Amino acid sequence: MTIQGHTRADITEHGRNRILAALPQDILAALVERAGTVSLARGRILQEVGEPVREALFPHSGVIALVAPMRDGRTVETAAVGPEGYLGFWAVLGSDDRALCRAVVQVPGTATRLSIDSLLAISRTYPPLTDLLLRFSKVLLTQSIQAAACNDLHTLEARCARCLLHAHDRVDQDDGVQMSQARLALMLGVRRQSLSAVTKSFQARGVVRLEPGCIRVLDRSGLEAASCECYRVVREAYETILPAAG
Ligand SMILES: [Zn+2]
Repeated sequence: MTIQGHTRADITEHGRNRILAALPQDILAALVERAGTVSLARGRILQEVGEPVREALFPHSGVIALVAPMRDGRTVETAAVGPEGYLGFWAVLGSDDRALCRAVVQVPGTATRLSIDSLLAISRTYPPLTDLLLRFSKVLLTQSIQAAACNDLHTLEARCARCLLHAHDRVDQDDGVQMSQARLALMLGVRRQSLSAVTKSFQARGVVRLEPGCIRVLDRSGLEAASCECYRVVREAYETILPAAG
């Protein structure tokens, strides 16, 4: 079946992103007309602090971490974008189009890519898209506020469980979370050895299985029990602020 030159399969692929899935078929088709699909390769820096934002990415799967790089090279994740959101919000929010954080692929996946100019042009013709894009900013604020408290107050085990749960929500769950322990340690802002004690403990309890470059979640409820309240707070923000998942 064809919608304005696109097969239903094309539309379905882009509709794996929750914001795109909330659009009416004709608006989605107009957007897809100007868009392409890109791979999000693990570790790739998609956006650097101070650089102009020229394109928007709507992930279908995977995790893009938003991090604040420090002068000594250390980083810590403050928020993340997956299939529930999009990257490119600095330009959508106005003032100027410069990025105020680094965006790096933490878990590989694919995304719909289109220029910011195209996205803004479509949102001008269909204002509910602007509303969706702004609503995602609320989710990011919730994540950032919660992460600031969590990073300071909660144990590494709880933070690690929270991070894995969010990542697990954003991937095809049969594939496991395609993230190395080194990258997870980087995102949590801790040494690899400190993290290793936590992940080995999870494995010994049958909660996860550690594989090269992949952490497979075996016992989701066990991971939820190990996590702090922050996972639920952020998850509820997605559920209440964003449209229902398809
Ligand atoms: Zn927490």
